[in-house]
Amino acid sequence: MCRSRATACRSEKILDDARGSASDTGSPGPQVSRSTALLRSPGRCGSAAPWAPILEGELGERAARAVDEIARALADFPCEDLSLGGGRAGEVIFRHYRGESAEARLRLDELLALAQALPPRPPSLYGEGLGIAWVAAHLGLGDMEDLPEAGLFALPSDFDLINGVVGAGVHALERLPLPEARECLERCVDALEESADGAAWRTTPRDGSWQRAKAPGDYFDLGVAHGLAGVVAFLGEAVAADVRRSAAARLLVRSVEWLLVRRLPVAGPCFPAIVGVGVAPEPSRLAWCYGDLGIAAALLQASRRMGETRREREAVEIALRAAAASPVEGKVCDASLCHGAAGIAHVLNRMFHASGDERLLRAAREWFDRTLRFRRADAGIAGFSAWGPDGRHDEPGLLIGVSGIGLALLAAATDVEPAWDRVLLLSGM
Ligand SMILES: [Zn+2]
Repeated sequence: MCRSRATACRSEKILDDARGSASDTGSPGPQVSRSTALLRSPGRCGSAAPWAPILEGELGERAARAVDEIARALADFPCEDLSLGGGRAGEVIFRHYRGESAEARLRLDELLALAQALPPRPPSLYGEGLGIAWVAAHLGLGDMEDLPEAGLFALPSDFDLINGVVGAGVHALERLPLPEARECLERCVDALEESADGAAWRTTPRDGSWQRAKAPGDYFDLGVAHGLAGVVAFLGEAVAADVRRSAAARLLVRSVEWLLVRRLPVAGPCFPAIVGVGVAPEPSRLAWCYGDLGIAAALLQASRRMGETRREREAVEIALRAAAASPVEGKVCDASLCHGAAGIAHVLNRMFHASGDERLLRAAREWFDRTLRFRRADAGIAGFSAWGPDGRHDEPGLLIGVSGIGLALLAAATDVEPAWDRVLLLSGM
């Protein structure tokens, strides 16, 4: 079964300590409909409200139909990719949360067997080795001896969530209280502290990437997926798990201050995707992976972990300003979890459950409606196709595929808490 982690509001003492030293160095089964007894005072610091569905009536029925059609379409979709980000490991989580626990177990056993035969590869959370290991840990299925041993608690050279140290830390969080997992988490915090350039982390652009087109040299990535917001959210989880607590809190406070002064002086969405010498200052697209919304979610949960009520309210206001953009203004081109409408809707749903702010509830419903309007008859998988620089294509996986879209819709239409979004660093609110 899914392990639940404490979501207690950490005391002001942590914050005081961090500031004071800153100058020194069973399986879930869906049940539809019940709603908004959740509403609470905005900005309150405390544990999140019980999870409840937010989609009712015709919108809820459309969401439930789409989930069913995704399940049917995935069963027939050929996929050789085993990974968590783009392949079959994402579908295992989707089926588990849909209440198909026997089917999920069968598919996970198959993936574990196939993963044993894979050559060693870098420990990337969204890849085939560590990604499948995270799924096994999250579902409580699969023993350590079933897992590809190499790299389970190794640290990558990158620092980010998708490929780096933060991703390795997210996997280790899922395996607490194993002593090896705690020791890995300590190494993650140490590695982040050692590799920081001040309070942020440099990235060298890869040839051919969109970052290379914008940045002539190294840059600072501000997003959740590949950058600083992901580190901020992870450090909040390290504080909550009492791993290198004072070092993690100190680094967290500095990183949040560094991040907030990168806001652009504009009325709407204000965080750039990347900053650096020679990089034109412009707000990012609207998404979980990059931009104001993902940053707002990271700020809300880190602030909650640190007991900073004022900053929680600031995070909610950042999210609301971002969510007011239309899909065209936000450059939202598909329904995906990573940078599409379902991801936006799910982040807003998470933040609503964390804060009780009814404006977030309304925005989440609007973005779920937009998610479903991305469906096209006789196209994609169950009507959903992913946008990419080379055009639209069919994607089964978690990050930009229909498994992720299905999980977000399930979370909105049922009272099953989406603890799977720990892999997106969204559950610490
Ligand atoms: Zn993305």
